[in-house]
Amino acid sequence: MRAAKICAECGGTLKMEIVTHTQPWGTQLYRFENVPALVCAQCGHVWLSAEVSQMIDDILQKQPKPKKYERVPVFSLPEPMKA
Ligand SMILES: [Zn+2]
Repeated sequence: MRAAKICAECGGTLKMEIVTHTQPWGTQLYRFENVPALVCAQCGHVWLSAEVSQMIDDILQKQPKPKKYERVPVFSLPEPMKA
């Protein structure tokens, strides 16, 4: 199946772009970078091809190691001195 080049939402023109896609899975959100997607020039709707959606599903089901974690630095203050 070939990806349509016309937006099914508004009939606008779709352009192939590389996007960052956030996929909810269970209770968490996972971020995928370098995702090829068709983006509507008119309404901005992002269309993932069946292949790309499948790839994302596969990755989430197998839960391999992500390329990186975006860690938030965590600091721990010393326990307050006991008087
Ligand atoms: Zn559109």
